[in-house]
Amino acid sequence: MDINSELSYLAMSLGLHKFGCAPVSAYSKAPVGHRPGDILPGAKSVVTFTYRLNNGAVENLPGTRNQYMLEFTAANQILVQAAHKMARFFEDRGYKSIGIGPEADIGDYARLKGDFSHKHSAVICGLGAFGINNILLTEKAGPRVRLSSVITTASLYYNDAVTESNCIACGECVSSCPSGALSGWEGNYSPQTGWVIDKERCAHYMFVANAGKRCGMCVAVCPVKSSDVRHQDIPTSDA
Ligand code: SF4
Ligand code: SF4
Repeated sequence: MDINSELSYLAMSLGLHKFGCAPVSAYSKAPVGHRPGDILPGAKSVVTFTYRLNNGAVENLPGTRNQYMLEFTAANQILVQAAHKMARFFEDRGYKSIGIGPEADIGDYARLKGDFSHKHSAVICGLGAFGINNILLTEKAGPRVRLSSVITTASLYYNDAVTESNCIACGECVSSCPSGALSGWEGNYSPQTGWVIDKERCAHYMFVANAGKRCGMCVAVCPVKSSDVRHQDIPTSDA
């Protein structure tokens, strides 16, 4: 069995929704210090993967903010474990690897900036494209996923990047944002790279006004979602 097929079985066993793979050469436009090879010298590949949030707590925000936090926390815990176990999977096969969790690596809360952009990586790995809400919109679960990645020295089969977004430009995320962080997207938004929202407004709303409880309104109101995402959608080695 080839390594991508083994990876598919691992992803399935970890309960992941989907994963994609890309060569480190595809990250040349990332900022210096945030490229895969800056984090792991000798890296050859990146695997980025999604874990889906349950719909109930998301759809009923803001009234379900406490329950949304449970979803958010549980998903993060699962992704931290998955990133660790996937890195171990590669290291057991002789490849140095680093798992990057969903937010444990954020070092700059004021600007919501992490060591590595899972969202940009997800586009490169073929998992979806940005919406105007500056969140990854996946094909089957829209923005209702959390993300993590593994950087590895292993060579893999690679997925094609996504070039078009399923964002319908309805503007619901912009008008529902309680901090005004999404105003000004016109002329700045790109499906491949997103855009620079007013992160300080967003961060202040979550970490000061809401004492650290996540907002999620730009996820909750987005109409891009599937009515049936019960199955996992794990690509095979020839994906
Ligand atoms: S998380 Fe909330 S405050 Fe931040 S951009 Fe989305 S809707 Fe606005
Ligand atoms: S809410 Fe509408 S405009 Fe915003 S990302 Fe979703 S589809 Fe696009």
